[in-house]
Amino acid sequence: QSKLNIDTIRKDFPILFREVNGRPLVYLDNAATSQTPRQVINTIVDYYQNLNANIHRGVHTLSQEATDAYEEARRKIQEHFNIAKPHEVIFTSGTTHSINLVATGFTSFLDKDDEVLVSAMEHHSNIVPWQMLCERTGAKLKVIPMTVDGELKMEEYNKLLSQKTKLVFCNHVSNALGTINPIKGIIDAAHGVGATVLIDGAQAAAHIKADLQALDVDFYTVSAHKMCGPTGVGILYGKEEWLNKLPPYQGGGEMIAEVTFEKTTYADLPHKFEAGTPNICGGIAFGAALDYMNAIGFDMITEYEDELVRYATEQLLTIEGLKIYGTAKHKTSVISFNIKGIHPYDIGTILDKLGIAVRTGHHCAQPIMDFYQIPGTVRASFSFYNTKEEVDVLVEGVKKAKSMLL
Ligand code: PMP
Repeated sequence: QSKLNIDTIRKDFPILFREVNGRPLVYLDNAATSQTPRQVINTIVDYYQNLNANIHRGVHTLSQEATDAYEEARRKIQEHFNIAKPHEVIFTSGTTHSINLVATGFTSFLDKDDEVLVSAMEHHSNIVPWQMLCERTGAKLKVIPMTVDGELKMEEYNKLLSQKTKLVFCNHVSNALGTINPIKGIIDAAHGVGATVLIDGAQAAAHIKADLQALDVDFYTVSAHKMCGPTGVGILYGKEEWLNKLPPYQGGGEMIAEVTFEKTTYADLPHKFEAGTPNICGGIAFGAALDYMNAIGFDMITEYEDELVRYATEQLLTIEGLKIYGTAKHKTSVISFNIKGIHPYDIGTILDKLGIAVRTGHHCAQPIMDFYQIPGTVRASFSFYNTKEEVDVLVEGVKKAKSMLL
């Protein structure tokens, strides 16, 4: 029996009590975005009721209070991910923004003889910006292959690494398969040939508390909306030396030291990368989301979610013709599946009629679908507020969809 009191936790999430198509909502699309506890919703309401002002520039009290709250959130993020310095935390609009910032910044550091390595199981946002970088510089993109279980072939990875390798990027957890990648080994091997590593933590951060100093990773990206926070805010972690080397991504207010029409000098970190008025409320609410999840405890969350995924896997596999994609030894929170002879979209549509929210399609990871030669999958993705009863509703729903469609 789980040590978490799920009934109490669920009461923190008002949306879990709404109905969809006349049925109680069963929300199993947490890998796309997680739901928001009232502690975070209250922080957002409180911000606009009591604190709203532009930051870092006003002499007045509200502006100073908003600045303090925003910088306090940065410190919470720093502490959560065990980051050495607060200015190594750059607020962005999320993982996509964070990756584009780095990929654009690397334009002047690469040339046509260089190589960059990407894993075979990336989200499009960790593929396309690097392809664009390769188009700009002539560098070559090489792919670290994976097995049918959805595990990276580490031997092949080690063979691909060479003095030519300048960058390696890989997700910590795959959003389409749930694989937890061996990122410490990936980072250390890359550093062995002098390459720089970006780890996309978008899908991992809700399940694994990453210690970024212990990992010794160069860049790590997070989106708040996958971990009980609001949309439109996230971070880029970068080692100070890298953030100092990279050019600014956007020009504007906040990111300058001095501006004349002849020449502009840039502000120190983190402001050099934070042009314009940021998502102030979002940043503060991200801090509240971390407080909320840490109060529950990541060890407890991981243990409970693992139990839930194990149960869901067992139960789903009792359905004849159901195949799960992504059977890595180390995986978390995602079950991608298909039923022989049925299009995933049709299953998703029937599940929706039953109040069950899952994702169907390629999950922004088309190369994975091409690898398995399928158009897409049905993806059920779990959070600590889901229950075994909800898994049962899902399994019954899938059985019903199968009987209607076959
Ligand atoms: N990478 C992974 C592994 C993801 O799951 C996602 C979100 N689906 C992203 C990147 C993109 O994150 P965002 O849309 O928040 O920028």
